Amino acid sequence: MTSCIICGRPIQEEHRFCRYHQNAYEELRKMFDRWEKAYGSMQWHDYLEGVLKAEGTGIWVAEVIEAIKKEYVP
Ligand SMILES: [Zn+2]
Repeated sequence: MTSCIICGRPIQEEHRFCRYHQNAYEELRKMFDRWEKAYGSMQWHDYLEGVLKAEGTGIWVAEVIEAIKKEYVP
């Protein structure tokens, strides 16, 4: 795959997304670690739903979550 599955921009070979969506994905992962610690346990998909519904979620992050939910991404 040579382009971002979300927006079609070129990607770095080791990544799934363009740098904008990759940044958003990495932010999501980092925030998940924090939520998991704060709540004791947290399911990845429950977390994604929570972030998607939260106010202030950026468009890049929201697009990454939509892609994950459609199971384009593990
Ligand atoms: Zn992209």
